[in-house]
Amino acid sequence: MSDSALSPAETKILMAYILEKHYQLPRSALLSRDDLELNARALEEWKMLESKRIQGEPIAYLIGKRGFHNIELYVAPGVLIPRPETELLVEIGLHEIKRLNTPTKILDLGTGSGAIALAIAHEAPDAQLTATDQAMEALDIAKINAKLLNMKSRVQFFQGSWYEAIEADNSFDVILSNPPYITSQDHHLSQGDLRFEPISALTDHGNGLTCLENIISGAKYHLNTNGLLAVEHGFDQSEAVVALMKQADFQDIQTHLDLGGHYRVVSGRK
Ligand code: GLN
Repeated sequence: MSDSALSPAETKILMAYILEKHYQLPRSALLSRDDLELNARALEEWKMLESKRIQGEPIAYLIGKRGFHNIELYVAPGVLIPRPETELLVEIGLHEIKRLNTPTKILDLGTGSGAIALAIAHEAPDAQLTATDQAMEALDIAKINAKLLNMKSRVQFFQGSWYEAIEADNSFDVILSNPPYITSQDHHLSQGDLRFEPISALTDHGNGLTCLENIISGAKYHLNTNGLLAVEHGFDQSEAVVALMKQADFQDIQTHLDLGGHYRVVSGRK
């Protein structure tokens, strides 16, 4: 373990996964069983994971999970790996649930692993969640997560592109979305974890604002009066997204900072 080519932190994460899978040992065994010699099968898997990681595969895909807000999600290459900054949308949703103080209807557009919808369902037992995705592969993973978290009855899933997944007369108190907003030219797409993530979850293959515009302009048809829309965007897109909200006649438009100090979310009311 000590002579791995990986950083100590990543070595620990992968080794904890191996110990749990092959020896049913908890994470704490990393300390208490320092002398443990891996058996042949465990060693083989360790080498495979180590080499995949050296080739750049995201840790979350290798161990099949990622923590998000107060839940743990199953993740696989068909979905974006949930990011900590997206927890902002969860907090905005939860704040609105508290403010309304009635069973709140919430829509998560482009749910991917189910992160936003399930994190909210986990905290708010009376909230009614709907989650959509264009990719069947993503919806399958989101449904697995709903099942693993015992929240299958809490979330309705629909397949389709943005509002096409929703019945015309279905409206919500809150719409949340973390759409693909990276521009097609952005060099980050060919770096780090992003190389391995579904391209359709990352970029609109255009200027980065196509999906945001679609979501913002269509929201009025699916929001209740005074309903709240909040969307995540790129670190340099705040002004453009505020302008889109103004154009679509939203009220009470607010910008929200993520923990990294970047404007990351814009919200507004119908
Ligand atoms: N936040 C992700 C990133 O910067 C991008 C995800 C998205 O486009 N919604 O890697």
